[in-house]
Amino acid sequence: MTGERTALIGGLVFDPVEPDLAACETRTVVVSDGRIEAILQPDVPVPGDAITVDARGLLITPGFVNAHTHSPLAPLRGTADRLDHVGFMWRNQADTTGRSADDIAAVTRLAAATHLLAGTTTVIDHFPEQLPTLDAVAAAVGAYRDIGLRAVIALRVFDRPYDDIETPAARAILAAVGNPLEPRPAADILSFLEEAIEAFHDPGAGIAIWPGPSNPLRCSDDLLVGCADIAARHDTGLHAHLLETAVQRTLSLERTGVGGVAHLAALGILDARWSFAHAVWVDDADIDLLGHSRAVAVHNPQSNSKLGVGVMPLVAMRQAGVAIALGTDGASTNDTQSMQEAAALAAMLPRIRGEPREQWPDASNLFGAATAVGGRAVSTAWPTGRLLPGYAADLTLRSLTCPELSPLNDAAQQLVFADRGGSLRHVMVGGRWVMRDGALTGADLQELLRDAVMAIERQDAGLAALRALSSSGSG
Ligand SMILES: [Zn+2]
Repeated sequence: MTGERTALIGGLVFDPVEPDLAACETRTVVVSDGRIEAILQPDVPVPGDAITVDARGLLITPGFVNAHTHSPLAPLRGTADRLDHVGFMWRNQADTTGRSADDIAAVTRLAAATHLLAGTTTVIDHFPEQLPTLDAVAAAVGAYRDIGLRAVIALRVFDRPYDDIETPAARAILAAVGNPLEPRPAADILSFLEEAIEAFHDPGAGIAIWPGPSNPLRCSDDLLVGCADIAARHDTGLHAHLLETAVQRTLSLERTGVGGVAHLAALGILDARWSFAHAVWVDDADIDLLGHSRAVAVHNPQSNSKLGVGVMPLVAMRQAGVAIALGTDGASTNDTQSMQEAAALAAMLPRIRGEPREQWPDASNLFGAATAVGGRAVSTAWPTGRLLPGYAADLTLRSLTCPELSPLNDAAQQLVFADRGGSLRHVMVGGRWVMRDGALTGADLQELLRDAVMAIERQDAGLAALRALSSSGSG
């Protein structure tokens, strides 16, 4: 993203995935053309044309890849306590339907800023909450460019009803107010996806547009196969929710006779292009298929815990060789959007479940899930999440003189269990500083918050009746 060469000198460099960098030693990181050019021993001279940056007292790590979130929910912190999945889904519809392009831009800027301030440099944004339009995509793309976050915008599409949440209580309300989740024909959606990719897919500029089936359950086979075909032709990834709730597993078995993963395999489209959010209700056969397919499962421990949908069988999946990335999910079920908190809870849940101690993932494993494995999920878009020459210069620089990291006993453990972003000083995306000394370089945070508040105040009240489902639950 920039032609300059920069050398970050004197910092401690840490990446537990790279054997040379797991010990947290002083290195010089040379960045050029938006990529990591070299990671040098401290006594090696830096290239003469490099702009030098004094990184003494700082810890340099890869930025996080938040592999599942939803930007439309960014202003909805504090709206989903003690909701079940059905109540939460309809509350989101009430709070997001009918936004103008300006409102979408404002909300997406808030989301992007929130991620950078949490040390995240790439997101998979499963977008939007209803069927997308080109205007909506344009607004989101512009917002990500303004703030400087890399975004995979996985366009959330469906051509079947949301049977998993259309309870009798919901149907009664929808009959009166209209259903914002009314499906459209697969052919229309596939031509829309082609158009959106043509118009906005620009990985070199940090924006990727992917097909993002809402959930295989909410899509016909024609739509799923069509999405996979588009992904292969345009060399994009594919992203979907998968088996988040027990109801989804029951419906999947009723409809296809097999678990959700086996159905994708039977269609001939289960491969490494996919990343699947949640994967809570997978069985042994699903886990085996995921492991062999090299698809990435995205663990969202807070969202699953907050909605009480169940817990991903993380230990069994790791044992079967499934690649596990981490996501936060949207801000109404994960109010912090902190990948560090996601990593910590992912570490804790297997312990609470009483899994064998020797199989517990540790802080290094989970830091790697939040960086390198997330990078694998977005690898068709750009190389990120690792400190290796050729990878994108997507870096966080953290203070070593803050309570969370001082004394520095173990970088992985303290980044996962102690720090929640308090250490963060500077963030670089594609070689460009997007946060310096704790402040965004691409926007004024107060202005951005004001715009997001105004977007929420303009929210159409027409669907307010759907909020009733929040209190009545799934009944
Ligand atoms: Zn989600």
